[in-house]
Formats: sequence, structure tokens, C-alpha cells
Amino acid sequence: MKNIKRIIAFLFIVLSILAVGSCNNDDEIVRTKVEAGNSGENGNGNSGSGSNTGQAEGNEGEITLYKVDGDNITKIKDYKVSGKDLEYQKDTDKHNEIWELAKKIIPLNQRKKMSEFLIYNGEVTGSAGFVVEIKSDLSDWQMGIAINYAYEGGFNAGGELAYTIIHEFGHVLTLNDTQLDAAITQANCKNYFPGEGCARDNSYINELHSKYWNDIWSEYEDAKKDEASHAKFYEKYKDRYVTQYASTNPGEDIAEVFATFATTKDKPSGSTIAEKKMLLMYDRSELVEFRNHIRRNLGLKRAKGNVASFELPEPGSWKQANTIGNPYKTKCRRH
Ligand SMILES: [Zn+2]
Repeated sequence: MKNIKRIIAFLFIVLSILAVGSCNNDDEIVRTKVEAGNSGENGNGNSGSGSNTGQAEGNEGEITLYKVDGDNITKIKDYKVSGKDLEYQKDTDKHNEIWELAKKIIPLNQRKKMSEFLIYNGEVTGSAGFVVEIKSDLSDWQMGIAINYAYEGGFNAGGELAYTIIHEFGHVLTLNDTQLDAAITQANCKNYFPGEGCARDNSYINELHSKYWNDIWSEYEDAKKDEASHAKFYEKYKDRYVTQYASTNPGEDIAEVFATFATTKDKPSGSTIAEKKMLLMYDRSELVEFRNHIRRNLGLKRAKGNVASFELPEPGSWKQANTIGNPYKTKCRRH
């Protein structure tokens, strides 16, 4: 009996480490509270986001957590904050303004994969947005948007916030349970393994990896070990990536390809591998539909000669486009 208890305790520790490990390889974005609360295995009555009525103090700039329910968000909790963050917390009009934009970008059917929305201050982690799974089977995700950056230079200045939301949702789109099988370990995975689970046969990320990463995989694995080699790797294979940031890893690549696919007006000819990656998305009718939804709702689908009603960064020019992220992370984005 004692042994069983020990084994269970050991398993719980291992699972907890696995649950929080995917996003915090460089300790930038640690979602421990949310994930521990949702693991359902600690039995301490704290089911994290849902039933915690006391004011928890976030250590990653958390301000207010919302539950997403179709078109609406309802507050789950306010974190214990002070100073500038308290001002942000009280300014719920801003929270709603950010959510309204997210709602325009993410269609209702896709929103089913995202049941939590966090407003946070990105200064602590240096990130403009992030997503993290809240169920270990990858069927449910939380998106966090940094309110300070969302209003930097004015709301959605230069379309940066919209771009961030598209990029971040690109991670949910490509890492959710319809795309990956979280029950298959890396050792048993015959397809690409992005970290959260094993890519399914027909998944977007497996196709991207097998067609445009596999041939340079060992070179990439060597290069990612230090920044200078990674930068050289990018220079060598520049024509494969829509931005430098996309060369971070296949997870960032596919989020960037999706964001570029959605925000670039014309269908590319496919003269470079970067363009061919975008064409993979044109081959998937549900992604074309998603793209049309974004462009329609942001007023990007305009008749010739009319000025767009909405501004986005020029393709490849968002703030972090010319940087390389942490190659060991798949779904957290630095500002
Ligand atoms: Zn990202």
C-alpha cells in the first residue's frame, strides 16, 4: 500500500513537471497555477481558475482571468495587483476592447478550443501574448494578451495586436487535439513531435515538417544550440522562412506561416519554400475559410482602390519578425 502511494506520488510529480514544462524552458512564461489547478490530480480542492474565489497573486503579470463562452467572456477572477496593474484591472473597457478584436479574428467554431482568456501585463515576461493548454489532452486552451503592449502607441497600433492574436491562435490551431495526440510519447511517435504530443498523420505541422524541415533537421538541431549558429542557419535557409522568427522551430514557423497567409493580400506564386509553406495552407479549405473570416471581419477584403479599414503590419514586419525566439519553446511569444 505504501509503495502504491509512493508510486502515485512519484507519478504526480512527473506529470506536474511535464504539465508545466512545455512552456517554461527559459522561465519566461510559467503557467504553473493554471496547469496545476487543472490537472485534477492534486486533490487539494483548488481547481485553479474555476473555484478559486480568493485573490491569488500572479507572478507572471496576471491581471484578470476570463471564461470564454461563445461570444462572451465572464470574469473568473481578478488577481491581486497594485499600482499600474490595478489601473489595468479596473479598466474593463480595455479588456472588452481586446476581446472584441479576438472575437473578430477567431471564428466561433474555432473558439471552442479556447475556454480561457487572460489579461496580463507583459513586462514581467517580455511577451505580447501566449497560449497554453489547460487540458493535458490539448482539447482546451488559454490565450493571454498583454494589455500594456495591446495599447502601446494606442489600441492595436500598426495592427500589432491583431497580428499577435492571429499568430497566437495559430498555435492553438496547429497544436490542439485534432492535430496532435498527447497520449503518444516522443519515443513512440513516428511523426513530428513538437513537445505537446505526437503530430497526427494528416496534421498541418506534420506536413510542414516532413516537407520543409526534415531534410535540414540535423543541421537545425545542431544550429539551435547557440544563437550565433542559429542566426547562420537562418541566413543559409532564409528563403524557407516567412520571417526570421519562423526559423525558431516548426511550432513558431507554422504560426508565422498562418499569420502571413492570413494577412497577405495575394496568393503567392510559390517561388520560394516560404511561399510553398503558405500554399500548403491554401490547399486546406478550412484554413482558407478561416483566412476569409479574418479578412472579412477586419475589413481587409476590399474592393480595388478602396482604403483598407484596418491596418496590419506589412508582411514580415511585426515587431519580433527579425529575431529568433527560444527554439525549445513552441507556443509562447516574446514581445
Ligand atoms: Zn508563437
